[in-house]
Amino acid sequence: MNDADLFERARRVTPGGVHSPVRAFGQVGGSPVFVRSASGAELEATDGRRYLDFCMAFGPLILGHRPKTVSEALHAALDRGWSFGTAETVSLELSELITGQLPHVEQIRFVNSGTEAVMTALRIARAATGRDEILKFDGCYHGHADGLLIRGGSGLAGQSQPDSTGVPKAIGALTRVAPLDDEAMLRDVFGAHGEKLAAVIIEPLPANYGLLPQRKEFLKLVSSLARAAGCLVVLDEVITGFRLGFGGMAQKYKLDADLVTWGKIIGGGLPVGAVAGRRDLMEMLAPTGDAYQAGTLSANPLAMTGGHATLNSLENGDVYAELERLGQYLEAGVTEIGNLQIIREGSLFWLLTGHSDSMPIRRPDRIPSGHAKTYPALFHGLLEQCIYLPPSPVEACFLSAAHTKAHIDQLLEGLRRTIP
Ligand SMILES: *Cc1c(COP(=O)(O)O)cnc(C)c1O
Repeated sequence: MNDADLFERARRVTPGGVHSPVRAFGQVGGSPVFVRSASGAELEATDGRRYLDFCMAFGPLILGHRPKTVSEALHAALDRGWSFGTAETVSLELSELITGQLPHVEQIRFVNSGTEAVMTALRIARAATGRDEILKFDGCYHGHADGLLIRGGSGLAGQSQPDSTGVPKAIGALTRVAPLDDEAMLRDVFGAHGEKLAAVIIEPLPANYGLLPQRKEFLKLVSSLARAAGCLVVLDEVITGFRLGFGGMAQKYKLDADLVTWGKIIGGGLPVGAVAGRRDLMEMLAPTGDAYQAGTLSANPLAMTGGHATLNSLENGDVYAELERLGQYLEAGVTEIGNLQIIREGSLFWLLTGHSDSMPIRRPDRIPSGHAKTYPALFHGLLEQCIYLPPSPVEACFLSAAHTKAHIDQLLEGLRRTIP
């Protein structure tokens, strides 16, 4: 059966044929590629075609598909059982590995997704402050919980509206939205509403709306205004954590956060999220505190093993150094191609078709409007050459330890042939 037939079958039994919307190829057109296996930097489709992958499951696979160390650890874990519903040692070891490396993180709680991690962080912040409102930024994604599917309206930040049907207005009203990279507006929002805020949540490197690097001073201002207002800072590092160095953006920019959320790499491709931070805050969670949070499958030994084996390989930093070299090589190559720009931080990159004068772009409203129109042609031009990019103009691309210079050359050659 070809992809179009499989997609047709899938659409009969699941909404849009997929279990996460971007997979449906709605933003690039055509039928999604059905994959039957993957290895290293390659996806093998059900029709036998092999694709060089730069989507890498949207972030978790920093070591590539099916790296030997993780695969062996998972096989061994399978032989011991995959859910005990009681205390076990794999999550203990993973917690100790993380807190041992990152002194600012005293305690950690594992959940099953980034969405859950963020929900839990905000609950802690509300429990700690006794306040209800939160502040987020336009262009940051924090998962699909009600209070976070909110976008800014026109006018002064503070007028926000649900970005999805099914989100109660009353819940949306507790979320304020500010623009990224606008210090004056940020001061205004804190001036008007700071005392009501339980938390400000930000992706320190927004990577879900293209890649929108923020100025360090802006990130520092977020923290200092939050401190002054008595509200907590939640760094959402679901995508950047363990990606830009073991300590993510918090370590890279020495950002001062109360709570951090992780996902993606922390499970190495298995479903894991985590919230972490200072002991006094974390112990507000049940059973030590009164903020309730639980999970039947949380910290199951299989998922924890995926995370532990992955982070073990990252701990000494060698992978990051190699990924940076590879990233620089890619960046230099793309820069020579006309009609294309690259925004890159370590092993995260975003290809922007056409030209923008205001590089780097720091806010979604500065993304040239032509990009979304021209991206589908770029995507399909590469797909025909068996190179797989994320099927959306605003999803970032990923390098992994399985990628080589030869793979980068293949991408560059593909781009040269595709770009008009
Ligand atoms: C992916 C992501 C989430 C959501 O994580 P899920 O595991 O998809 O629920 C939240 N925040 C950020 C920054 C993310 O990149």
